[in-house]
Amino acid sequence: MHIEAYGSPEQVTAFTEDLRNHPPELAVIDSFITTEAPDHIYEEFSIRESHDQRTDFLPVSVDLAICADCKHELFDPKDRRYRYPFINCTHCGPRFSIVKTIPYDRPNTSMSEFTLCPECLAEYQDPLNRRFHAQPVACAVCGPSVWLEQPFRPTLKGETAIETARKMLAEGNILAIKGLGGFHLACDASNLKAVDNLRLRKHRTGKPFAVMTCDLETALKFANLGEAERSWLTSPQAPIILADPTVPGEDIRAIVAPDQSRLGIMIAYTPLHLLLLEPGKDAPQILVMTSGNLSEEPIVHDNLQAQTSLQDIADGMLLHDRPILTRIDDSVIASLENRPYLYRRARGYAPSPIILPFSAAQTLAVGPHLKNTFCLTREQYAFISQHIGDLDNQETLDAFEASILHNQHLFRVEPELLACDLHPAYLSTRYAQNRAETEHLPLVQVQHHHAHLAACLAENKWTSDEPVIGLIFDGTGYGSDGTIWGGEVLVGGYSGFKRQFHLNPVPMPGGDLAALTPARMAISYLLEANIDYHDLPPTHSFDQVTLQAIRHQCLTHFNAPLTSSMGRLFDAVASLIGLKDRNTYEAEAAIRLEAIAEPDVSNAYPFEIKKNVIETSPLIHAVVDDYRQGASASIISARFHNTIVGLALQCCRLVREEAGLNTVAISGGVWQNLRLMRSLLPALRAEGFKPLIHRHLPPNDGCVALGQATVAQKVYKG
Ligand code: ZN
Ligand code: ZN
Ligand code: FE
Repeated sequence: MHIEAYGSPEQVTAFTEDLRNHPPELAVIDSFITTEAPDHIYEEFSIRESHDQRTDFLPVSVDLAICADCKHELFDPKDRRYRYPFINCTHCGPRFSIVKTIPYDRPNTSMSEFTLCPECLAEYQDPLNRRFHAQPVACAVCGPSVWLEQPFRPTLKGETAIETARKMLAEGNILAIKGLGGFHLACDASNLKAVDNLRLRKHRTGKPFAVMTCDLETALKFANLGEAERSWLTSPQAPIILADPTVPGEDIRAIVAPDQSRLGIMIAYTPLHLLLLEPGKDAPQILVMTSGNLSEEPIVHDNLQAQTSLQDIADGMLLHDRPILTRIDDSVIASLENRPYLYRRARGYAPSPIILPFSAAQTLAVGPHLKNTFCLTREQYAFISQHIGDLDNQETLDAFEASILHNQHLFRVEPELLACDLHPAYLSTRYAQNRAETEHLPLVQVQHHHAHLAACLAENKWTSDEPVIGLIFDGTGYGSDGTIWGGEVLVGGYSGFKRQFHLNPVPMPGGDLAALTPARMAISYLLEANIDYHDLPPTHSFDQVTLQAIRHQCLTHFNAPLTSSMGRLFDAVASLIGLKDRNTYEAEAAIRLEAIAEPDVSNAYPFEIKKNVIETSPLIHAVVDDYRQGASASIISARFHNTIVGLALQCCRLVREEAGLNTVAISGGVWQNLRLMRSLLPALRAEGFKPLIHRHLPPNDGCVALGQATVAQKVYKG
């Protein structure tokens, strides 16, 4: 933003200081530069229309939770927007999800089809009104409306629709509810039968569901929330917080997130949610609010699509006619050292840019295969897309391609450089290769874990050429040697890396199948450690023939690619001690293993570092010995976690001895494990290391696109 301010030196200084110290509520100051302005006399006051300048770009605001003033008006019988489900103002309401193009003016949003009534127009044009130039401003007279559809019943409108929806939820029904960035599937979270029904209909056996309450007070009944967590929950971003449940919360957690220790909770962030959860109206206190989609497809965002693809799941649909132009899921965060640690970056966070520590060429980095996000860079800005999902079905791939074009247009990025993963078969790689060919653009392929390292550096504004230690503990990534990596200690920076240490590679019997079946990985690790496994839990899930086949695959490496993945080691250990033989969603076994770990156990298992390989056989032997001697899964899990922290620390010490490096970048999906993080960080600091962790992006593959983009800058430009 460019401001010319005229007045006496005192006045001008007072103005700039005021702006710097008390910026408007939702303003984010990336940098603040003051220079002397040319002499110029403005004779009149006017507010002019925005002009679209083709090459300019402005960051687009994120979608914002309902503000306190609007909340107040919503329940004020004297207010003309009393109980209006789409009340909003300059401080709140939809933004990114309704923008067609920039500048962000009403005709460029999905509100263009609603003509302002005289009263709304007057507010919209009054610089002193809270709704001055609030693009989505509306009221019951001129704005969007809500209705309820049920099979074989007449459609209900307005207040009756909401009342009936509330009643249906209270009676144990499942509703599809159109929200801010897409549809939710909702049911009473305290009703086991309703939740089971939802799982059954959504084909989602174990995956956790998030819950929603009407306000912070109610959320506190179910979750122990610290001060920081409370402030995030009630912030305009209003994310889902992964929180420790209270005693009544534990009952809900057991229903909605059976394998977890934490409960994903958010509070009502739109007026419609508030009306549905309104206390004293017989509504359930706590609702499951999970993304409205068919298992792995992107979240449904339009009415027609909902009517076809959600009709077999929902008993009714609460719809509205404000189109959602860009779908966006709820964001998920947890508290790590009292600061947010992201698991999914979407609503409220995307598309606000990450400020880069250097100026970048206009670049498109297409991101990873799983948990895809992509990244566009321009000057100091990196625009990371909202969470797109796993690129293994046509619907997600379509969403990916459409979002790339939309964001390119929105942020005025015409890529001069492309970046993608090293994996030759990824659909994202093919997309990038196609564009490189048709548009004659350079393409840089970036190793997955190198991208993790670079993303962590960029987020931490790392500018030095000095290499750092990268603790990249992850699920899956295609390695430079064609094997599957994931338990990597790298030494390097943006422009390159050395694979300093890695877990000893073991076969993945059955390839991709092994990633879904921890029991397969357990058998692989047991064979590697020369342990007779016939009495151990992983064998229980296979018949003799399959067991023989797995053994054969491991020994001959037939259909058993090698992996050094840390995620697979977690899988193996979880299965070894009988926790989980199969994953119904990514990292399920590892999450279970973390959830049961005993808090106060300090000892660990042995491991060995030979040259640059971290040998896991001593660890597997010790786990099996413990198990055979009857140690509990909780104790074994705690000791295992301690071992992983210990070996990470040992690798750092070895690099320091050799190269004198102290900075440690921590990235990769395994670091979503808070138990690991909470013991690793103090341990590193105690020994004088400087840990860098993700704060703006998740440590999982949601950060990879940023890494690809930054590596591409350095590799291409040198
Ligand atoms: Zn508001
Ligand atoms: Zn109106
Ligand atoms: Fe990864």
